[in-house]
Amino acid sequence: MSELNLILLGPPGAGKGTQAERLQEDFPLLYLATGNILRAAVAEETELGRKAKEYMSRGELVPDDVIIGVILDQLRDEEASDGFLLDGFPRTVGQAEALDEALQDFGRTLTAVLLIDTPDDEVVRRISGRRVSVKTGRVYHVDFDPPKHEGVCDVDGSRLIQREDDSEETVRKRLAVYHEQTAPLIGFYEKQGLLKRFDGRRPPNEVHDHIRATLATLRLEEQI
Ligand code: ADP
Ligand code: AMP
Repeated sequence: MSELNLILLGPPGAGKGTQAERLQEDFPLLYLATGNILRAAVAEETELGRKAKEYMSRGELVPDDVIIGVILDQLRDEEASDGFLLDGFPRTVGQAEALDEALQDFGRTLTAVLLIDTPDDEVVRRISGRRVSVKTGRVYHVDFDPPKHEGVCDVDGSRLIQREDDSEETVRKRLAVYHEQTAPLIGFYEKQGLLKRFDGRRPPNEVHDHIRATLATLRLEEQI
């Protein structure tokens, strides 16, 4: 298999970012997390950030025409040629169709879509304890994955914050948006034979082991 082109799919709080961090240690993948890209744009007060800000704080998706161009531009880049890992994109059928079309133009294909299946009540528990470093993007949980020293990032000692959209009310809204607009992608990719499911209730290292085993099997199958 010459390149790994992967999508992480699942509700907010499923553990996509947590797994992405581990997968980047395993493979040289260009990691594109639309939530991180949008939060940086909001912080820097760019045109993109201005367009996205209100949608994000309400827990709604930013419109397809705002986000699709941003991601496709980055996938066209040389940096993505060894493989990519998408986290938080696509999130609507429209985005998935635009991605399929663009990959066809670039002469590339998806390797797999990794669904981290996690029930709503677990998501709410996780997100309420989530803490992130704005500087490094590293994600923690106050109980399940605490930093070595409370309130600061293990990587560089930067301050950990709670995301504004991680309040319980906004999380419930984001979950409703996920079920309505993003969950249809499960069937979309199942039909293409790309969907791989993982039990997101397992501890992070177990989920990671399962994903690695699946990717190893895919590589073997390609060599047969
Ligand atoms: P997502 O990127 O899907 O929104 P995150 O990776 O940010 O999710 O994880 C959400 C929260 O749950 C974080 O606080 C993280 O530390 C914690 N977490 C991630 N995976 C697990 C897991 N398998 N078990 C328990 N907690 C987890
Ligand atoms: P996340 O960090 O993935 O939880 O995303 C945070 C917020 O960014 C979401 O609630 C949306 O408002 C916005 N967002 C991230 N990715 C997308 C996307 N692919 N399409 C539309 N909105 C997005």
